[in-house]
Amino acid sequence: MDQQQLFALALGLTEPWYVTSLDFSAEDKRLEIGIDFRRGGTFACPECGTVGCKAYDTEQREWRHLNFFEHQTILRARVPRIDCPGCGVRPVNVPWSRPGSGFTLLFEAFVLAMAAHMPVKAIARLVGEHDTKLWRVVHHYVDKARGQRDDSAVRAVGIDDKLVRRGHDYVTVFADLDARKVLFVADGRKGEAIEEFRWDLIDHGGDPDQIEEVCMDMSAAYIAGAETSLPLAAVTFDKFHVMKLLSEAIDKTRREEQKTIPDLKGHRFALLKNPENMRDDELAFASALISRRSTMKTARALHLRLSFQDFYTQPARTAKQFLRRWCAWASRSRIDEMIRVSQTLRRHEQGVLRWFVSRITNGLLEGINSLIQSAKARARGFRTTENLKAIIYLIVGKLDLQVTHL
Ligand SMILES: [Zn+2]
Repeated sequence: MDQQQLFALALGLTEPWYVTSLDFSAEDKRLEIGIDFRRGGTFACPECGTVGCKAYDTEQREWRHLNFFEHQTILRARVPRIDCPGCGVRPVNVPWSRPGSGFTLLFEAFVLAMAAHMPVKAIARLVGEHDTKLWRVVHHYVDKARGQRDDSAVRAVGIDDKLVRRGHDYVTVFADLDARKVLFVADGRKGEAIEEFRWDLIDHGGDPDQIEEVCMDMSAAYIAGAETSLPLAAVTFDKFHVMKLLSEAIDKTRREEQKTIPDLKGHRFALLKNPENMRDDELAFASALISRRSTMKTARALHLRLSFQDFYTQPARTAKQFLRRWCAWASRSRIDEMIRVSQTLRRHEQGVLRWFVSRITNGLLEGINSLIQSAKARARGFRTTENLKAIIYLIVGKLDLQVTHL
């Protein structure tokens, strides 16, 4: 086997294609592989599949291939057009690339694999291509795989908003909580996002009336949107968001009170932790604080929050009673922030208690936050919201990506 046959094998070339030349420049760190088809070779029509079509004319083209070690590698070939009796003159499909792409399939597979783990901008630097070209590759395969998705079994959906950029730029993410994957990402965080999801679901063989459970926060927009677009679904208010209400209440209470009681300063995080996660000094601070609850609002707020920890470990039959007692207690606490929490929980009682039946949370969607954070942390990370959506689908969409020339 000579060198050219070796490269033909490495590239997966089949008849009538073969390697004609290898131009290796150590100086330019460049390898150019010339490919041609044998005289008299025939091709299949790219439209109808009719085989045995002869070349009508050719067009010279080149593709970026995976580097051979540090050498940028280019494939060059003349691509024949055939004259199909049924379809007319068409360029043939080449086995190493998909139509319209300036990259080989192997190169594109490499970009996709890397894009799940590092910023596209960094891949662009690594391979020496402009990132907009690589984004085009990512979008092509993500769109194709999403197009083939089957949502007919979706039954429980998690809905959560994500901050895309500083300011008020949000997306709403929808996940299949059983299959643990992201189904859809909509712009903004209004109720209309849920209507968009409903149509996307229908487009992918899903049935909105089959959605039995929805998990989300207590935003009025989502509640109204779910009522309109997923009317048969029971709503569970997400555990993380319920606990966040309490954390925010205690934080605001502390900030207000430290104006008059300065020794509360510097203890923000101790008050947000659960005792089992506190350091020794934090635990000492928290227990000393609790003993001052007759005079300090922050101490009473902490007591309330720590007691609420037991809510989610209640047996289902006592959960309602627990919640109502806790709310009654909070409403008499003389702490504005806690009174507000008790009113919110009472108003949304049904959805808060639904957890004891559905047992669903948006933990999966919380996990995406770190992904968005890391993408944002890198300079200009994903440039556009559409790019961010593609990366979310790529990483948590469990897509069936198929890198083929069709
Ligand atoms: Zn044809």
